[in-house]
Amino acid sequence: MKHLFVIFLCIGFTLSAQNTTSKLSLDYYLPDQVTYNPEIPKPQDLLGYMPGEWHVSHDQLIGYMQRLAEASPRIRIERRGSTFEGRPILLLTITSPQNQQNLEEIRERHAALTEEGGANLDTSTMPVVVYQGMSIHGNEASGSNAGLLAAYYLAAAEGPEIESLLNDVVILFDPSFNPDGLQRFSFWANTNKNQTITADPQDREYDEIWPGGRTNHYWFDLNRDWLPAELPESQARIETFHQWHPNILTDHHEMGSSSSFFFQPGIPSRTHPLTPALNQELTAEIGTYHAKAFDKIGSLYYTEEDYDDFYYGKGSTFPDINGSIGILFEQASSRGHLQETENGLLSFPFTIRNQFTAFLSTLEAAKAMRNKLLNYQRDFYTNSRAERGKDAYIFGSTNDPARAAHLAKLLKRHHIEVYKPAREYEADGKKFGTNSSYVVPKTQKHSRLLKAMFETRTTFQDSLFYDISAWSFPLAFNLDFSDTAPAGLLGEKLDSITLPQPLTLRQSNYAYLIPWGDYYAPKALNAILNKDIRVKMAMQPFTLNGKTYDYGTLMIPVQNQKLNAEALQSFLDGVAKNAHVKMDAVSTGSTQGIDLGSRQFESLEKQHIALLVGEGISSYDAGEIWHLLDTRFDISITKLDTRNFSRSDLNRYTTIIMPSSWGSALTDEDAEKLKNWVREGGTLIGFKNAAKWMKRQGLVDFTEVETENPATGIRFEQRSDFNGAQVIGGAIFKAKLDRSHPIAFGYDRDEINLFRDTTLFIEADETSYKNPVLYTEEPLASGYISDINLEALKSTRPFVYQSLGRGDVLVFTDNTNFRAFWYGTSKLFMNAIFFAGAM
Ligand SMILES: [Zn+2]
Repeated sequence: MKHLFVIFLCIGFTLSAQNTTSKLSLDYYLPDQVTYNPEIPKPQDLLGYMPGEWHVSHDQLIGYMQRLAEASPRIRIERRGSTFEGRPILLLTITSPQNQQNLEEIRERHAALTEEGGANLDTSTMPVVVYQGMSIHGNEASGSNAGLLAAYYLAAAEGPEIESLLNDVVILFDPSFNPDGLQRFSFWANTNKNQTITADPQDREYDEIWPGGRTNHYWFDLNRDWLPAELPESQARIETFHQWHPNILTDHHEMGSSSSFFFQPGIPSRTHPLTPALNQELTAEIGTYHAKAFDKIGSLYYTEEDYDDFYYGKGSTFPDINGSIGILFEQASSRGHLQETENGLLSFPFTIRNQFTAFLSTLEAAKAMRNKLLNYQRDFYTNSRAERGKDAYIFGSTNDPARAAHLAKLLKRHHIEVYKPAREYEADGKKFGTNSSYVVPKTQKHSRLLKAMFETRTTFQDSLFYDISAWSFPLAFNLDFSDTAPAGLLGEKLDSITLPQPLTLRQSNYAYLIPWGDYYAPKALNAILNKDIRVKMAMQPFTLNGKTYDYGTLMIPVQNQKLNAEALQSFLDGVAKNAHVKMDAVSTGSTQGIDLGSRQFESLEKQHIALLVGEGISSYDAGEIWHLLDTRFDISITKLDTRNFSRSDLNRYTTIIMPSSWGSALTDEDAEKLKNWVREGGTLIGFKNAAKWMKRQGLVDFTEVETENPATGIRFEQRSDFNGAQVIGGAIFKAKLDRSHPIAFGYDRDEINLFRDTTLFIEADETSYKNPVLYTEEPLASGYISDINLEALKSTRPFVYQSLGRGDVLVFTDNTNFRAFWYGTSKLFMNAIFFAGAM
């Protein structure tokens, strides 16, 4: 028997929403007995409709915010950046006009709380800072639409209550954490709306087309990027966070339509152990204000049974490792304007009102708990100063300084102090060079945040995770790393991190060499091939002019090219600088090892890449690939929609990439077509579930390791946890590399860390050289995996290469491109694209 919740709807509205002369008014949303300044424009003055009648588009939303900022001395507005689609990332700072005049001073005093000497500051008169962000998932739109009301209320409400609130609270308000996604979703919901509203969940209005508005332009879930902050939206809001040190951060979401309203705390046993216990107690106390407010308007809610506070990359968890309190709100979604649910009709205005209510109850809690929250924050930093180590972290890569630089950039985004090493350093057999390594002292403000970024963890209180269980950055970047470097190693402090900049390339009349280890070497290769310059790749290491060139070194002969020697030098110099790669001009082909004219140099071909997207394909996985190739390597790809596959001309492509799929992405006829294309010489690369489909279709063959997990002694009510414990939500595993295989070219270590979130285990091939990447006997590096799965994973292979006719089929069981921060496995994927012909 399912629990049936009854959601109290504003019946008056649901009926009147059936026609355009709706009786919906601001009174439905706004608190009773408040007067409003008539000088402040109401949302409908600008929109031409009442909030909730239509889904606000992002441009309308920011248009209204601009108008409010012009009209109200309580609001300051700024543009913090742009999305990939060029939309502004706004911040409204809302507080009393008096506070507005001393805003910078207030901010500095507030920030001083987190610094040494903060204990001497008087918090009794200090405003508390609350950061409220709407609809980071663009198709969870009640948040941003409630933002219209929230901003209006804060700008226009009159009387001692609001004045006192604005004196005591500085509100950092972002009406849309995900502008591109919100725009996409509002388009969908509005263009499919009936004038005579239908509540049928099967209507097109409630069934958004792939990939949906949840994600940003490149289909990233922005609510997983607070820690890596690789995306522009995250970078803007992380900067605000570290400037302001908010005491509370709220993150407004939607969940399944047949639910009610959720607010944190989440499931207590799934809180990250680095989060102080007091954080969760304060979260619960803030929750009492939400409960009171929801009781008053008759809305059902629940807490503590769902969601968690484990992965710090989520908006409601990131604050918890920064002396702040993150609060997750989840409202049952109406998706469009009115939907039948098992709780009755759920209207869009109802969901907006709940979000607005939670917005206000947060402010009420912040005001009432002001001292408690400020002191908690101060104590958080005082305590972290007492526990932090005296030594330092060091990380780097001698053969790929760019990869190390990207981790240093990530740290700098979080205001973490980064230094160059004062001298070369060696630890555990790893060498750290002065120009390819970074030192990060533990004695600094964000010591806990740093720990959360760098630690590895393999034991857990719970076996269920809402998201990934590991993200250790030194492993994700596959860098040389030590967490016990001496503090005396600190050299020059770095204000900003720049990628390596090569010197001007000397002209050669013989050949140029490009080591493949550089992160951006594929970008250089692609540019060279696009120019129809012949380039070859070394299948073996060699030494020339005293320098050793590793597997995969690119060689560009000067003779017989389309460009003369001078033009070639000029072109390649530009390529090297643009891609931040080292390039060497050499004047002889005679080497120790293979000579430059050797048959051990393989010719490389220009690649024409199609990426399968559309229904049936994981938009996250596809988006990561699109983003990687498009923005990091400047490789122009074709996004080939699964719905057009049967009539697409595949002969245009050398490579087709199939991201993880749900099994029905392509038909059996499509599979035949794909098979014929591979047989004619195409390269097919498949990930995760797509690999299973490819196997079923006879495109590739491998043996899966099956696991058994009999449910013995498990009670009915434990069934979901029992099954959930077998999920690999995302953890990090070690594999051995055969560096002589082209899939491993560019790596200078024999071991690699991989990110895995599937239970597809592939038995090793009997022919040992067909296992160039092989999980170790003890593969778990960080994160949660059940004993059964760990046993199954040992000594299996995450990568399969097979030829089919004249073509190649390559399979990865792991995600080499995870969430744009897994720099450490990009090269595996790029090798699959460019070197498949040499395997
Ligand atoms: Zn969400």
